[in-house]
Amino acid sequence: MKVLFAVSECVPFIKSGGLADVAGSLPKELKNLGTDVRIMMPKYGTIPDQFKKDMKKKAEFTVEVGWRNQYCGIEEYTYQNMIYYFIDNEQYFKRDRLYGYDDDGERFAYFNQAVLESLAQLSFYPDIIHCHDWHTGMIPFLLKRRYQSRDEYAQMKTIFTIHNLQFQGIMPKEALKDLFNLDDRYFHIDELEFYGNINFMKGALIAADKITTVSPTYMSEIQTDYYGEKLNGLLTARRADLIGILNGIDEEIYNPAYDANLIQPYHSSLIQDKQTNKVHIQQRFALDVKDIPLITMITRLTKQKGLELVRAVFHEIMREDIQMIVLGTGDPEFEHFFREMEYRYGNKFKAYVGFDEGLAHQLYAGADLFLMPSKFEPCGLGQLIALKYGTLPIVRETGGLNDTVQSFNEYTWDGNGFSFSNFNAHDMLYTIRRALHFYYERSVWTHLTETAMLMNYSWSQSAVKYFELYRNLVSRSEMYVLK
Ligand code: ADP
Repeated sequence: MKVLFAVSECVPFIKSGGLADVAGSLPKELKNLGTDVRIMMPKYGTIPDQFKKDMKKKAEFTVEVGWRNQYCGIEEYTYQNMIYYFIDNEQYFKRDRLYGYDDDGERFAYFNQAVLESLAQLSFYPDIIHCHDWHTGMIPFLLKRRYQSRDEYAQMKTIFTIHNLQFQGIMPKEALKDLFNLDDRYFHIDELEFYGNINFMKGALIAADKITTVSPTYMSEIQTDYYGEKLNGLLTARRADLIGILNGIDEEIYNPAYDANLIQPYHSSLIQDKQTNKVHIQQRFALDVKDIPLITMITRLTKQKGLELVRAVFHEIMREDIQMIVLGTGDPEFEHFFREMEYRYGNKFKAYVGFDEGLAHQLYAGADLFLMPSKFEPCGLGQLIALKYGTLPIVRETGGLNDTVQSFNEYTWDGNGFSFSNFNAHDMLYTIRRALHFYYERSVWTHLTETAMLMNYSWSQSAVKYFELYRNLVSRSEMYVLK
């Protein structure tokens, strides 16, 4: 079974969030199950030279982006036995950031068409193209409407995974012709039309053979008005093809027992070694070295992550006898807020505005509590990593947070963290205080941290679910051919 992952970011080459973690880890597991998986992604200028210098050019051709003829190079790189293809066009991808440019629509329209064209150039015809998020949303659509008239593409299936429904790739109507040479037939409610514009993600939701999303709770939520981002009607109509499969974490990267970023690796049976990491973090951030709860947040600084709740009760949080460190980048309003709070509460609160993978690992290891009060959360990897490092999550019960964190029940001792339900700052504050209270009940705390560390949030179960999905899709099409 041959599968192509088409994705806009992937560890270890480039990462802005959890999508890159998933693209870097799930294919490895699928390969172990016997799938020939290859990954195709843009060749960003900011990919480290250590990878770029060994990429081999496999093909060069031009891709039509509406009326433009754009250069496309395909470069191949093998990493840990996995084949990666990089789509090379410096005009589109040699930039400082991955996203957030005025021409993102054109950049990813190009990428989608380049992916489909490159299959012929490489003579690699996968059984399934597995697409991820809006950046690849037009692949299923173009495959169905344009490419399946070609023999080699005729049997190809597509799966589209929603990692975040909020970002859809909404472009003006003119993009239809200007970027894809598609006529007005496709500006229709059953096609790409979306409230007067066109929508890349909608293209995938109507055309993909199967749609998955990254947790069972988010799968239900996105069929409602509140979480559905105006696509809930379509998602509900396609519910027979919609599946929620929880993400896992790559335990080769996130494992406190072997993590080279840590001052002192540790194991669930030697949890006192975690303490050395806490002291190191306190020293690194010039906080007093003392035994009080250390709370961390490691996150994109956007409203999605519940930062408005944190801001609303920040002074009350600071009245507690705690230390807190935020590592994140994102919306300037939150970056400024946290910088200002550091200025004000510098002896107990620190903000590191930036993206730093090594520091993230040290914080997961050094903190006692991991705060993630998201407004919505498709899956969330932060809480899974935190659990693995014995750092107890405080979360809002939404999406994947709801599926992976069970609030501690003091009567039965069940649970692996702390949670609250309503998107309400004082509910969050109450839950933080509840967690702080148990920090001082050492038997409870030891029980909880050990439970957290022993949970299995690797890919082992979820990769099998994707594998089964692939197998069913492919065997269904074979049956069809036999008939
Ligand atoms: P999302 O994909 O919505 O950003 P996830 O929780 O699924 O959220 O994944 C976030 C990933 O990015 C985690 O691996 C987290 O540790 C990492 N991360 C987020 N912000 C930073 C940062 N500023 N520095 C280092 N790693 C970060």
